[in-house]
Amino acid sequence: MKKHLLFLGPPGAGKGTQAALLSEANSYLHLSTGELLRKEIDLGTSLGKQVKDTINKGELVSDQLVLEIVKKNLDKENNGWILDGYPRNLSQVKSLNSVLINLNQTLEIVFYLDIPEEVLIKRLLMRGRKDDNEDTIKTRLKIYKETTEPLIEYYESISLLKYINADRDLKTISTDIKQKMA
Ligand code: ADP
Repeated sequence: MKKHLLFLGPPGAGKGTQAALLSEANSYLHLSTGELLRKEIDLGTSLGKQVKDTINKGELVSDQLVLEIVKKNLDKENNGWILDGYPRNLSQVKSLNSVLINLNQTLEIVFYLDIPEEVLIKRLLMRGRKDDNEDTIKTRLKIYKETTEPLIEYYESISLLKYINADRDLKTISTDIKQKMA
């Protein structure tokens, strides 16, 4: 059966990389809100112009805007999918829950990629994306801890959470994830 999954974890944990690998292996849709937003910026669309400063400061884009993007992409989807970078706060969790009820879909697994903070900072500085400088990283980690981290407990409480040690090499992590999919 095609599954509906999401990746949770701090910036730099490797959510995007692992979600891409897994979606390719299973022909699932990979929906990364960060990537979709960056594409809008690159294309210079009005949405892109609206979110550019926020993203470059490392702050969160409005729940409303991100929800539109998620809805638009999940709407046409009756296959498996992997959400990466959404939800990021409890209000986004609620929105996602209602979107899924409307689409008659259920979330089956939440992979939590766990990794020590000092490893994250090193990885992000190496990656060198436009929003990967020291100030922005600090902001993103702070927001992550305050607003996204509580989601771990929530998904654990509804028995969807699967813990992944993300402080290992890429291949080991992806093998671990594939095993935990079954
Ligand atoms: P990372 O997880 O490494 O920070 P992402 O590509 O997931 O990278 O996100 C990059 C930026 O896009 C975030 O810092 C934020 O500004 C914006 N963004 C992505 N997803 C969301 C979301 N669900 N809600 C609000 N803003 C988001």
